[in-house]
Amino acid sequence: MLTITLNDGRTIPQLGLGVFKTPPEETERVVSEALELGYRHIDTAAIYRNEEGVGRAIAASGIPRDELWITTKLWQDHQGGDKPFAAMDESLGKLGLDYVDLYLIHWPAPKTNKFVESWKSLGVIRDRGLAKSIGVSNFQVPHLQRLLDETDVVPAVNQVELHPYFQEREIVTFARQHGINIESWGPLGQGKYPLLELPEITAAAEAHGKSPAQVVIRWHLQHDFIVFPKSARRERLKENFEVFDFELSAEQMGAIDALERGHRVSSDPNEVD
Ligand code: NAD
Repeated sequence: MLTITLNDGRTIPQLGLGVFKTPPEETERVVSEALELGYRHIDTAAIYRNEEGVGRAIAASGIPRDELWITTKLWQDHQGGDKPFAAMDESLGKLGLDYVDLYLIHWPAPKTNKFVESWKSLGVIRDRGLAKSIGVSNFQVPHLQRLLDETDVVPAVNQVELHPYFQEREIVTFARQHGINIESWGPLGQGKYPLLELPEITAAAEAHGKSPAQVVIRWHLQHDFIVFPKSARRERLKENFEVFDFELSAEQMGAIDALERGHRVSSDPNEVD
């Protein structure tokens, strides 16, 4: 398993499983299968309403807690005041855990302007040991800049929509200048454009005897992005994890880099509140 060392010194498995839209009643089965297949990093969120299923799978797995990386996220209805503390307690209760490995502000929600205050609360949550690492999600450069200017804590990660049609190079460059690691969400474009049929990707897949999805996951890994493609199907969970036995060439990486279209498949972070 490849790992990345974050700016707080902690080591995160670079590849994990995302459970956005994994139905609550299926989550325990999906996460259990992923853990059996070797996944050790699960990305959930309060708003996914499946933290209980993630927690049940963890408990049933018998895997030592320190071998797992569990991320969850603060929804914006719990930004500001004491609400982040209540949200953290609620997530820990649902997960059945004493701590999470990573707690993220899910969206900046800049119109309500509570993200700086909420970020300070996440600092306290980290100091109390309830989240070992803290970070943000869907933060644009001006949002990150405000955290850098107005607080003492640099996020460990910024989790953003990122895939070949939407590579967020300005955010990636800025984040890296400040030691913030990038996590790619929607790494396969959420199936919302025919990414896996693009010739640049199918040609690389054919050359390596791999699937197009494996090529795209590999592209993320070789760019040092942390990535957690979602699937509820065992064969795809297995496929998405078998990406450590080949390497894309500089030409193959360059051909995929050139697919950038500025084409977002989900919401503009400035508009989500
Ligand atoms: P994704 O890009 O991982 O796409 C998932 C879809 O791709 C699946 O539903 C399936 O249709 C398809 N797929 C998966 N494996 C495949 C394979 N091997 N071959 C062909 N098709 C395959 O999209 P996502 O789930 O949105 O993103 C991954 C994770 O990122 C989420 O589960 C969640 O944890 C996180 N996320 C975070 C945010 C945020 O705001 N922070 C938003 C969306 C997602």
